[in-house]
Amino acid sequence: MDYYFYQIAAYYVNPDTDPDTGTMTRKSNLDLPQEKSDNDTHILIVDDDATVRFLMNEFMETVGYRSLMAASGEEALEKLRNESVDVVITDIMMPGMDGLELTELIRQKYNCEIIVMTGYSGDYSYEEVINKGASDFVFKPVRFEELLLRLKRVLRERFLKEKLRRLAITDDLTKLFNARHFYKQLKHETDRCGRYKHPLSLLLLDIDHFKSYNDTYGHLAGNHVLARLGETIRKTLRKMDSAYRYGGEEFTIILPETNGEEARNAARRIADAVIAEKFEPKPGTTVNITMSIGVAEYSAGEELEAFIKRADMAMFASKQSGRNRITFYSPEDFS
Ligand SMILES: [Mg+2]
Repeated sequence: MDYYFYQIAAYYVNPDTDPDTGTMTRKSNLDLPQEKSDNDTHILIVDDDATVRFLMNEFMETVGYRSLMAASGEEALEKLRNESVDVVITDIMMPGMDGLELTELIRQKYNCEIIVMTGYSGDYSYEEVINKGASDFVFKPVRFEELLLRLKRVLRERFLKEKLRRLAITDDLTKLFNARHFYKQLKHETDRCGRYKHPLSLLLLDIDHFKSYNDTYGHLAGNHVLARLGETIRKTLRKMDSAYRYGGEEFTIILPETNGEEARNAARRIADAVIAEKFEPKPGTTVNITMSIGVAEYSAGEELEAFIKRADMAMFASKQSGRNRITFYSPEDFS
């Protein structure tokens, strides 16, 4: 599987959901990440010494974490393929793959933190371990209190890092993804589309008469509409879809695995959900909002700009023909 992920919960739960390598679990729910509780935090202990392994495991369970064990680097990678893990705590000196090699491999493939345990004899330096991508380092024999403090700090930083990453790609008002993330994501999806020959569609939506709404009821009321519609759109999406605030009152939605016909149905669903929302910009005044929507299906090899332009022109045609409409343009409409 090679699906991009859209939700932080999935990011934590599934080790295969790295935002930059674009793997797995397609979700569009944009709630910001919540800090995990201890009993939802998964630790993987890797040590060839069974005594250390069991003691550490018992300690982790006593503290309240979920703990897994592996007796070698190879076994650790096997576990990571099937289990979600937040932090790997690994010995360095092990027969077969050593802890540094393991650290490097985990860094390339999985989104989890690594704490390395090493002997005082100085087999490896702090710099070496950190440069391989470990988040922290403890000496053996491990003092559990110290390990716990380091572990908590690593988990805290992991959470904050993820929250920052999410804030950077989220539109504050609508809680949809922002425009910057749209281009990155659309590029990713069109590349996928080229590789797997799956359909891909794009919706471009523009709120009708939004300027006059703002002029009549004020910008706060206008912002309220944007925020509510952001929520409405999110609710109508399937797990694999992702929605973005594209401009002031413009939204885009990327629909993977969706041909033009299905995309039109999706557009219809959204249009219906939007018109069902009632706004009350001032007491006693109820207003319905409509949207003009453009639909385009990706044509293999098409430039990103051309694809977006086509959706944009379809949206514009919806405006021109009276608004509150859905227009679909296939590539043939422009050849
Ligand atoms: Mg060892």
